[in-house]
Amino acid sequence: MTNGKVKTRIRKNDIVQVIAGSGSGKISIKDGEDAKARGTRGKVISVDREKGRAIVQGVKMVFKHQRASQDPSRPNLGRIEKESPIDVSNLLLVCPKCDEATRIGIRTEKHERENGKVKASRVRVCKKCGADVPERS
Ligand SMILES: [Zn+2]
Repeated sequence: MTNGKVKTRIRKNDIVQVIAGSGSGKISIKDGEDAKARGTRGKVISVDREKGRAIVQGVKMVFKHQRASQDPSRPNLGRIEKESPIDVSNLLLVCPKCDEATRIGIRTEKHERENGKVKASRVRVCKKCGADVPERS
């Protein structure tokens, strides 16, 4: 069963941890210090639920192309440096409570309204400490 969207519980403005690199290039973090993206954390800028990819602030992939420019006046030619979409399967949400990169469960919360109807809402829950992980806006 699929509606064309990738199932992810990661939402915009979440803090996530990268658990795997893409393998397609060198990865650096924002302060310019080279580091493997694995283990770095950042805030989710956007989520593309169609493609199952997210852009994470500060997690930057630097693609170095083999045919770098030989022209000294254009040293950056052949090198693309930007925040690139990361597959959501490579991201884990960081729980705001226990500060652990964690899997997320869903708890259904039922609210009884004054008119007697019950409204159910789904709350994300940290599987490590059990704290609610509200979506941020
Ligand atoms: Zn937690």
